[in-house]
Amino acid sequence: MYFQIFFQQINITIFEKTAQIIFGTKSENRIQFRKSSRLKTKNEPEIKKMLEKIKKIVLDTLFPIVCFGCQKSDFWLCEECFQKIPLKRFQVCPKCEREATLSGFLCGKCRASREFHLDALISAVSYGNPTVKKMIHNFKYRFAGDLSAPLARLETKAIFFHDLPLPRAIVPVPLHPRRLRWRGFNQAHLLAENISRNLAPPFKIPVLDILERRKYNKPQMELGNYGDRAENVRDLFKIKSDVSLDDIEGKIIYLVDDIATTGSTLRECAKVLKHAGAKKIFAVVIARQALKK
Ligand SMILES: [Zn+2]
Ligand SMILES: [Zn+2]
Repeated sequence: MYFQIFFQQINITIFEKTAQIIFGTKSENRIQFRKSSRLKTKNEPEIKKMLEKIKKIVLDTLFPIVCFGCQKSDFWLCEECFQKIPLKRFQVCPKCEREATLSGFLCGKCRASREFHLDALISAVSYGNPTVKKMIHNFKYRFAGDLSAPLARLETKAIFFHDLPLPRAIVPVPLHPRRLRWRGFNQAHLLAENISRNLAPPFKIPVLDILERRKYNKPQMELGNYGDRAENVRDLFKIKSDVSLDDIEGKIIYLVDDIATTGSTLRECAKVLKHAGAKKIFAVVIARQALKK
């Protein structure tokens, strides 16, 4: 058991890099396949599948699936531990961040502001919960595909608890293409896909990757204060040029991300969506992380 916990704790970056060298990232595989004319046959999908299988066996051996809460085998988060994670019942106004409001809506005073575009911000659970903290950390750096389901389930549970109206579309906060290539996935997109499946089955609410970053900004993590973070993302986002605005005009939209700190990123995304005609923007994150002073 200690062996498993140890492996859950260690930073995977080195392993990931090694795995990338051995197996290649998805895009590298494609390049290798293109380079070799012998491999550029109809066998390509089979070779890819085989590599994926080997990768899975290696990962399963080195990092066996155990619950992040109780270390029980075969689950990333067993049902018992899932139920034990308390939802955040009280939310604060996303603008002044002082008034506690029902379901993370704007408080009475802040509602009058036309310069603020986020209608509500819901943080599902507390970042201080040790199981949540461990899962979020691991979600960012590895096991993203596996952990997106239980983490999105927490977000969905919060959406139901706070009784948010159902959206017409879900928009994930985008990554810069360079970071997307490096990481191989957008964690917000994975969460959005899972939430979309959970909200009103059998319907799948469309997930729209319609936002993009104008430039490569500094990671918000590297910036220590509220003002710097707000400045770092100011006017950073735009709607992709090939998007039809019919998908968002007059619609209720959920904006999804993994964690929020100051909320600047969500506010900037909401601004762009509102300017494009969206009616209401409700942001949903797993947890809010306090700004390190
Ligand atoms: Zn458990
Ligand atoms: Zn307020």
